[in-house]
Amino acid sequence: MQILYPFAGSIQSYVEKISDPNRYRPDHCPQCEAQHPLTAHGFYLRTLVDAAFDGVIPVRRYLCRSCKRTVSLLPEFALPWLRFSISVMALFLAARLLHGLTLVEAARAAAQAGMPYQRGQFWVRRFRKQAPALSLALVPLAATPLGPATDFVSRALRMLESIGWITAHRFLFSQLRAPLLGWPAYLVPAGRRTTLAAASPTC
Ligand SMILES: [Zn+2]
Repeated sequence: MQILYPFAGSIQSYVEKISDPNRYRPDHCPQCEAQHPLTAHGFYLRTLVDAAFDGVIPVRRYLCRSCKRTVSLLPEFALPWLRFSISVMALFLAARLLHGLTLVEAARAAAQAGMPYQRGQFWVRRFRKQAPALSLALVPLAATPLGPATDFVSRALRMLESIGWITAHRFLFSQLRAPLLGWPAYLVPAGRRTTLAAASPTC
């Protein structure tokens, strides 16, 4: 299971901070609810592309002695299944869908290290599909009431820009177990509902 590590700062400082296993060690198991601190269980490596970073980061893992399952502490600037960071995705989607840049220009604006615009094209498709559900799911975080929904894509984008993408992601993932662009079909967690809209009111 992945839980989010509430971290804001540079990637270098993230790597330094997680070298201490006690920092953010979960004090209970989120899977079996056993009320004892989890045991540090090494790291796994994953790739990440941020605005000015393209490389591999360690992700800390803990083990529950009761249920023998692991919990990994994903930094909240990284999305569970995407190589690109939330800020790269946010910059790309805003550049393309709010400010009308071309795919190539938006890719250039989003990642200094470079990103294939085809990747962004995929985000745009998923974002369009998710936009109505996202607009609904984010209502509890929105500061001001929104006007009538004529265009869910720009409404969802405006909400994300004003709430903050990482704050919105933290909410969606911790409360609804849903990543910003939804789960890809092959990763839908067992027993979880697949859309944000369906996941929100019942739990
Ligand atoms: Zn457990």
